[in-house]
Amino acid sequence: MKLFRVKKSNIDRKGLGLYATQDIKVGARIINYVGKIITKKQTEESAKFDNSKPIYLFNLNSRYDLDGDVSWNTARLINHSCSNNCDYNGKGLKLWVTTIKDIKKGEELTCDYGFSYDSDYKQFPCKCSSINCAGFIVREGSRWRINKKFKKNQRVSR
Ligand SMILES: [Zn+2]
Repeated sequence: MKLFRVKKSNIDRKGLGLYATQDIKVGARIINYVGKIITKKQTEESAKFDNSKPIYLFNLNSRYDLDGDVSWNTARLINHSCSNNCDYNGKGLKLWVTTIKDIKKGEELTCDYGFSYDSDYKQFPCKCSSINCAGFIVREGSRWRINKKFKKNQRVSR
């Protein structure tokens, strides 16, 4: 039996997400992250990756990237959460998704998209609604920069 099923997401309300069909232990391999292996040169020359934060593009090594924006890559449907319960893992040219927490049946499977904090972070609001949501899709190590900003803004508006 598959560990997940695809259904309408609570995070991305316009889209789909992956949901646990049973309790899953930490460290379980959920799904392979597949796509087209392309050279760095192809990435640079493609208008598709003009954005500085292409969600489905993974760096495999110094020569190759993986373009996961293909219909047969079910793992692309995994949404970002500031309290993610899964993470991307890789070896060689292979990528997959592993649980980093025990997950209860019915929970949505989520990853940290790992976006860096920079001037355009506001383009990517986060709707994960977890208790430590930063409000924007920014990798864990950089979220304090946003939280600090939030506090400042709140003080000003009161
Ligand atoms: Zn969030």
